[in-house]
Amino acid sequence: MTSSTSLTGHCACGALRYRFDPASAVVDYCHCKTCQRWSGAPVTAWAQVRPAQFEIVAGEAKAFQSSPLYKRHFCGECGSPVYMSGGETIGIMLGTVDDASSLVPRGHGWTADQMPWLKIDDRLPRWDEDAPYDG
Ligand SMILES: [Zn+2]
Ligand SMILES: [Zn+2]
Repeated sequence: MTSSTSLTGHCACGALRYRFDPASAVVDYCHCKTCQRWSGAPVTAWAQVRPAQFEIVAGEAKAFQSSPLYKRHFCGECGSPVYMSGGETIGIMLGTVDDASSLVPRGHGWTADQMPWLKIDDRLPRWDEDAPYDG
């Protein structure tokens, strides 16, 4: 990973910091109920990258097993949800990225759980459950 292309991010208090290479990132929204509970927000957005393209540069995340496969990692100091691991990719919570302006979502996953009043006026593909490209 070269530092010239990497993006950085951190939790709300700044104790947990990371960087990643966004070159092949897959970015999308997730409307699932687990993400709603974990984030406290009606919808989340994620950048998914290969584990080799992500590294923690400060602090240490706490984690809980949110499903048989996946662990969700958060800052033990401030509680910010920061990333997810366990599949083929690391999912990074877009709201924790310092400058996510280049990370444009390409779809909506888990619209079966979408808040009925939430209207996002785009023409991106939508899936009832996991997007087919999710690993
Ligand atoms: Zn923190
Ligand atoms: Zn989700």
